[in-house]
Amino acid sequence: MISTLGVVKDGYTWHEPVRRRRWWGSTLKPVTHPILDFTIDGAPLRDLEGTVEEAGGGERSITMLIDDFPHEAVSQIDHLVGTTPPDVSGGRVALLICPCFDPGCGVLSAQLVTGSGTVQWRDLGWQRPSESLILIQPTTTFTFDRRQYESVLLDLRARFSALAER
Ligand SMILES: [Zn+2]
Repeated sequence: MISTLGVVKDGYTWHEPVRRRRWWGSTLKPVTHPILDFTIDGAPLRDLEGTVEEAGGGERSITMLIDDFPHEAVSQIDHLVGTTPPDVSGGRVALLICPCFDPGCGVLSAQLVTGSGTVQWRDLGWQRPSESLILIQPTTTFTFDRRQYESVLLDLRARFSALAER
């Protein structure tokens, strides 16, 4: 079955230091940043069974498609399109990461397999450094039409490149 890749707007709330007027420093305040999630046939990746686990800090994993971090967004897109080599060991690409951006917390990855007319995210699974891959059960592979897949990602790349140049 050929799936359709898309994106949907989402938000992520980080607790960020806010400088106070007094000398005793900063306090943490929740700040929600706009992010995008991938969708597969309209279903958000973060909502799919097994794709989100409680990472190190008990945070839900996210994509790198964050307006406030456009360089990271472009980097993730380049790995997914295959213009830069896979960023996770075993020829795999990162789909979701911990909101602290530390791969040590665990990365949801897939093997990227590019054919002439299709692109596959094969065998989605969780990886942590020095631990073996834990595949999502049942085994999950998505097959996209290559033109549709690349068109979505390259549109996103143009958008985030423009943000990165600001
Ligand atoms: Zn983390």
